[in-house]
Amino acid sequence: MFQVEELFQIFDGIKLPRVPVIPFVMQYAAKIAGIHYRDYCTDPEAMAESQIRCLEAFDYDAVNVSSDAHRLADALGGDLFFPEDGVPVVREPPIKGPKDLAGLEVPEPREFPRCVQRIEAIRLIKEYDPRITVIGWIEGALSDASSVLGPTNALKAFYTDRGFLENLFEFSAEFDRRFAGAQVEAGADIIGAGDSLASQVSTESFELSVEYTKDIFRTITVPTLYHVCGDTTHQLSVLRDCEADIVDLDRELDLRKARRVLGEEKIIRGNVDPVLFVKESPERIKELSTECIERAGQNGSFILSAGCEIPPDSRDENVRAMVEVGKSSTGYR
Ligand SMILES: [Zn+2]
Repeated sequence: MFQVEELFQIFDGIKLPRVPVIPFVMQYAAKIAGIHYRDYCTDPEAMAESQIRCLEAFDYDAVNVSSDAHRLADALGGDLFFPEDGVPVVREPPIKGPKDLAGLEVPEPREFPRCVQRIEAIRLIKEYDPRITVIGWIEGALSDASSVLGPTNALKAFYTDRGFLENLFEFSAEFDRRFAGAQVEAGADIIGAGDSLASQVSTESFELSVEYTKDIFRTITVPTLYHVCGDTTHQLSVLRDCEADIVDLDRELDLRKARRVLGEEKIIRGNVDPVLFVKESPERIKELSTECIERAGQNGSFILSAGCEIPPDSRDENVRAMVEVGKSSTGYR
């Protein structure tokens, strides 16, 4: 494992001795630790223990404290369902339209139990070992809108009520600025933000939402990571200008093309197909990991990972195979 100071050289444009490997693990980490995902999402100790045990089992380079995209919806009184071993779902979104947002106060993350849970998990991991790099987590503007309105209504609002949508983006950005600040205070070394709907919207709509996500990134005092899901080839120019230090790309996208558009300096994380971790052989995972490094990692500004979350039923030997490729990468310094 790279310790924080070693890993952080990447932000100064210094080539590390090898490619860092930071898989995006949530449900898989809980499974490795034998912890129900419901507990992972609600109990700080369960989250911290899952992340620490998974890191120690595979020895990659950073942990993250993400779990689901619904902390704002939860804080606003949305009706959430927490399956014992699945991702929480919003059964009833808290905001139906402009009336619900008018006069609403931005919830204070430090006072809301599920935000405190994430903040506390960060503190516990840092207390256990301050050398571990911890990636804190917030949501991008699009993800928050999708969670508090429901995905269909959020996508519709781009065409039916853009003013309302922008008010909502501003509201959620304020929540995330405060939430990020509290996580940095607790010890988060990097703050990640996710936008799982990034591939589903037009470039123009994405650009609008990213203006607000950028406003969050600008206030964060540590390096930032922007995670987008699906084929975001049409969003690459927006991602180039998103102001996050790391752009985290999903499997559908050609990393050579991403490198061309994003430039040599931008740190890219990605993008082995996560689905393949379930059934493919470790040899195949090694081939694909090597391909990722060849396509985007030659200048050192690259972090090897799967394109999105490692599925909970992944083969352990496949996660190990990807980590091994990073560890055995040479020619870096
Ligand atoms: Zn994703």
